[in-house]
Amino acid sequence: MKRSFAAVVAIAALSVQRALASVGDRSVKFHLCRQSCEIDTCWDHRPKSLSDDTIVVPDPLPWYLIMTGWSCESNCAYHCTHRITNEAKKRVSDIQTKITDGVVRERAEAKMLKERWAEQLVWDKKGDEFKELCGDTHFLSSTGDCVPLMTEPPPPLLTEAEARRKIDSMVAQELSYLSVIDKQTVQFFGKWPQLRLLGMQEPMSVLFSILNLLVQLHAIFHGFSDLIPDTFPLKSVYLWHAKIASVAWTASTVFHTRDVWWTERWDYFSAAAVLMSGLFLALCRLLYLRPGTHLFRHTLMACVGAWAVHVLYLLLHRRLDYTYNMAACLTVGFVHNTLWLLCALMPHVLERARALLVSRTRWSGSKDLYGAAPSLALSGLQRQHLEMLVAAMFLAPALELFDFPPILRLIDAHSLWHCATIPLTFFWYQWLVNDARECVRTTGWHSDRHAERVVTDVDELAGAGTSTSLPAALSMLPLAAPEAEAASVSAASSTDMSLQPLWAQAHQVWGALCEWTWHTMRILRGMIITS
Ligand SMILES: [Zn+2]
Repeated sequence: MKRSFAAVVAIAALSVQRALASVGDRSVKFHLCRQSCEIDTCWDHRPKSLSDDTIVVPDPLPWYLIMTGWSCESNCAYHCTHRITNEAKKRVSDIQTKITDGVVRERAEAKMLKERWAEQLVWDKKGDEFKELCGDTHFLSSTGDCVPLMTEPPPPLLTEAEARRKIDSMVAQELSYLSVIDKQTVQFFGKWPQLRLLGMQEPMSVLFSILNLLVQLHAIFHGFSDLIPDTFPLKSVYLWHAKIASVAWTASTVFHTRDVWWTERWDYFSAAAVLMSGLFLALCRLLYLRPGTHLFRHTLMACVGAWAVHVLYLLLHRRLDYTYNMAACLTVGFVHNTLWLLCALMPHVLERARALLVSRTRWSGSKDLYGAAPSLALSGLQRQHLEMLVAAMFLAPALELFDFPPILRLIDAHSLWHCATIPLTFFWYQWLVNDARECVRTTGWHSDRHAERVVTDVDELAGAGTSTSLPAALSMLPLAAPEAEAASVSAASSTDMSLQPLWAQAHQVWGALCEWTWHTMRILRGMIITS
């Protein structure tokens, strides 16, 4: 009865693990190891010294393991994971050592035979009086001993490279007889074995998640709140985005500390919320969607609705659909990055999209809110920074694709991805702050919707509209000279754009994309050569 109860507990503990089977947890070896460990330490609660499988499992568990949700059973699974990995490494290492030693020994013997053969050849040329010393079957070696005569020359001595090749092929042949789990580091429950630190399952991912959280908190309490002018209409959107992201990085910290069903879902759903929030921010900024307008509300509803549908879809399945989740996140991220890429390379496409959106909007009574939108043209420096940031945004997720066993059982591809997002988010938020300040200063797009052309905050709006003189405080802002913007504002009005065929626009986008790729590659090449 006691054992059947324990079995139920073990099954329940298993069910809270990530329900993704891998080579490791499917193996008989793992099941036997865990069973043995559980019988010894969880069921009978024997002292750890009686454990017959050499796994040290303290029972009861230390407080930090209990605090992080470990049970005796999951602790056994953790130790078995590392035990099997250690054994595989040792087995491969032993095979390599054995074969290397054998080849080295063979080589030493071959070298000795070669020397003996050379001595024998010299001996053969000597007179008969010397040959009588050791008889017909032996000859006198240089050490003064009689050694047997060799009937044929020794095989040629292997060179270093040939010996290395021989070792490699013999090791490969020996390893081919072993199963994967016996010779390689394999995944368990969809994860590579990682060393636990104070109960944290993936300590490096936890560390990088906390650093990402700090970047978000910095944005909430300083970057977005202090440096973005209050008159920038999307300030609250930017702050909300950072708040959602801070929840997501908290979820990531918790999830990488302990992977159970609810932490996993919390992490996945909040990550999707951040992506959606980022897309919403991009749409608001690039299409000049002002809070309070119908377009803003409907875009917000569409984004929240899409996220809710995504969450519901994942919740309705007992097992998380990882493939779908990945595809959905990559799609939203791709659209987000493409929008910003268009902003850097072809802002007129976005301006035209906004004009079309407004002209087809049937909501009336607030036309003044949609009317002439400011230009999307950025200053030269901002545009250059945006190009680099978008390139990094496209490249960073590729880190996830390099799925390799963790270096030192600590640093895996996922933790590197979380590491990459720290500077990326920091510089991205810095860019958004600069962009918001530039937007208020050069376009006059501010939160007072009834006063598009009326200066209400001299310090913030002095550069807007027709004003050409800058106050002293404004000259302190790290922004480019307004001449470029002024020139582009007149060139890019949303109303006087001629309709172009779709293919021509697509061709333009493709051309700009190629040019941008080439430009980025040249910059990267320059950076690599000069570094
Ligand atoms: Zn993560």
